[in-house]
Amino acid sequence: MTKQLALVIDLNVCVGCHACVTSCKQWNTSGPAGTLSDDHPYGADPTGTFFNRVQTFEVGEYPKTETVHFPKSCLHCEDPPCVPVCPTGASYKRAEDGIVLVDYDKCIGCKYCSWACPCGARELDEHQKVMKKCTLCVDRIYDDQLPEAERKPACVMACPTSARLFGDIHDPDSEASRAIREHGGYALMPEWGTQPANHYLPRRKTEIRIHPDELERQDNPLKVDGKLPRPATSEPSLDDVTSW
Ligand code: SF4
Ligand code: SF4
Ligand code: SF4
Repeated sequence: MTKQLALVIDLNVCVGCHACVTSCKQWNTSGPAGTLSDDHPYGADPTGTFFNRVQTFEVGEYPKTETVHFPKSCLHCEDPPCVPVCPTGASYKRAEDGIVLVDYDKCIGCKYCSWACPCGARELDEHQKVMKKCTLCVDRIYDDQLPEAERKPACVMACPTSARLFGDIHDPDSEASRAIREHGGYALMPEWGTQPANHYLPRRKTEIRIHPDELERQDNPLKVDGKLPRPATSEPSLDDVTSW
């Protein structure tokens, strides 16, 4: 079976911190592909190209509501509609690992592919006038100059809650496939028939494991351990000067 690399994003543990967004922007703006446009980032009307964005939604009905953070990048569809519409062959899917890429030298910025993509994953770089999108960090994951543990997408490396997994979803033994199987992973909008390779793990009830020492520390650990600095009995304490 051919390889299909993908991201698996766990909505249960994503905290919406945007570390994946900023690490993606940093890696892809400084890498071989050159800068990603970013105009007036701190102004009233910021614009720019991002390969990965996190959208935050309030779901449910008050008072039973929840906040869901939803990271979204190109899904590296197995049957990507953005590829056949491209008049120049700039948009293509790699046979060896299923990554969907844009050849910037061939792209004429006509935007057909962004109209064809059902999930809005493509963004025109207004400076270079070429279409850009997530590359699955193809310039990191095969870089043998990097330590093996770092040959992962920048967003996966940066996520503080390990909400982003990366691997071959056609390999049933990969971490990504196991997570999809064990946690009910699903693809976005299957009705479009594009077979997205990226999957999402749904929100679920999480068993909280508390160790006895964590319970002790729930109180001020300094007090528990008797290490709180105490004034000498002759000196007025904070209580003496602030209470009456
Ligand atoms: Fe193409 Fe959109 Fe699918 Fe990415 S998500 S492969 S841009 S159709
Ligand atoms: Fe192809 Fe570029 Fe046009 Fe997209 S914008 S269809 S990649 S030429
Ligand atoms: Fe960005 Fe790379 Fe993550 Fe894609 S895989 S969202 S390009 S950091």
